[in-house]
Amino acid sequence: MNAPDESVVHGSKARPPARPSDLPALDKLLRECAPLVAEHGHTLVAGEARALLDALRTRAVAGELPRAELEALPQTLAARVNGRMQPAMRAVLNLTGTVIHTNLGRSLLADAALQQVLALMGSPNNLEFDLEAGSRGDRDDLIEGLLCELTGAEAATVVNNNAAAVLLGIAALARGKEAIVSRGELVEIGGAFRMPDVMSAAGATLVEVGTTNRTHPRDYEQAFTPRTGLIVKVHTSNYQVQGFTAAVDEATLAPIAHAAGVPLMTDLGSGALVDLSKWGLPAEPLPQAMLAAGCDVVTFSGDKLLGGPQAGLIVGSKAAVGRIRKFPMKRALRLSKLPFAALEATLRLYLRPERLVQDLPTLRLLTRPQNQIADLAQRLLPEVAKALSPRFTVETVALQSQIGSGSLPVERLPSAGLAVTAVDGRGRTLEALATALRGLPRPVIGRINEDRLLLDLRCLEEPALLTSQLGLLKEALA
Ligand SMILES: *Cc1c(COP(=O)(O)O)cnc(C)c1O
Repeated sequence: MNAPDESVVHGSKARPPARPSDLPALDKLLRECAPLVAEHGHTLVAGEARALLDALRTRAVAGELPRAELEALPQTLAARVNGRMQPAMRAVLNLTGTVIHTNLGRSLLADAALQQVLALMGSPNNLEFDLEAGSRGDRDDLIEGLLCELTGAEAATVVNNNAAAVLLGIAALARGKEAIVSRGELVEIGGAFRMPDVMSAAGATLVEVGTTNRTHPRDYEQAFTPRTGLIVKVHTSNYQVQGFTAAVDEATLAPIAHAAGVPLMTDLGSGALVDLSKWGLPAEPLPQAMLAAGCDVVTFSGDKLLGGPQAGLIVGSKAAVGRIRKFPMKRALRLSKLPFAALEATLRLYLRPERLVQDLPTLRLLTRPQNQIADLAQRLLPEVAKALSPRFTVETVALQSQIGSGSLPVERLPSAGLAVTAVDGRGRTLEALATALRGLPRPVIGRINEDRLLLDLRCLEEPALLTSQLGLLKEALA
């Protein structure tokens, strides 16, 4: 909103603009806003009042301050103060079509996990206290049995995220030694997490074997030296090599590694704990299958397909996990009590696999039937079209959702949603709509594809969160 508009709106065209001397003194303004000061205290309110008066003074000096703004000062100050108390991290509506969206916080926590966080975080708890012995305990003891039961592992531990799990695993098992990785698996997972860099950060010497598209058992065998400390397999979760390819699977590699006395670690990335094909989803490698194949260490994320909080899960043999747990870096990477509580509650849900689709939001969203999403699109169409007319037209469309977070990059889930087209056909008009959607109290994140703004409704479980904002959207676009 700029000054000329305001003066027209408030009919103050006839009134001369405010002068600097018309501005109230700070003390006077604060007295007028006594309830605001009582609620938030002097420091915040006075600081905001000072900043507000400074900004208005600049405009008054320039002769650009409508008087109506002076009259609205208490309300403006209250809005500023309340705005400062709004967290920058906010709930949004993910209509991107990517279910586990890394930029939008990945998996949604199950109700059981949310309840556990609420119940435990405001209270002391037994995070590192053995209630039976009445003495110091280890946080791993609270979760290790459950993780072993679910994966068939001998031992388990958890850290801050899977990147930390991989770093820690390599450091604990191969620091000062050589770690063998196939050239086809030297992946970049995102940002600065690239396998070769992780190796050097962990203090291991990377030994590349094979080629980009083909690696054979003999490639590994020929790479062994007395300095070999570890073989690392990386699940190429965010891309696929197709065509003339060959990789050595864990079941083939484990005996080769063990014959040389070297442990085998595999980074699964997402790592689902149940076979997703049961629900018609593409299958992901399971940690339990990797352990059965002979891996000594398997690492995976807590907030991808597992559907829990950010965490890195490490399962494997007693010997390998024991070395990992004792490695000093573990202390720096340990899982905080907040995600720890959520992770334990999420893992317990896996004890009731029949209920998982109801209990785990991530699985519920991934398995949402297309006809249900299409029905929702049909239902929302009239209201959305009305709010966006006359500058935009809206239609229902079949869409393809993605699982996200690098999981199963090639797979698509049949979905549905709304496609918005700008009547003037200009990309800028569409961008303005995307901006207005992001500017709503509950920001709506869609995606622009060629000359349409697509709203994939797979992740919209509470349509009122969208429809209740359509009035505001219409205003924002006016
Ligand atoms: C996502 C991913 C990671 C990193 O996991 P975070 O939990 O995000 O730290 C590592 N490796 C692979 C293969 C991944 O897909």
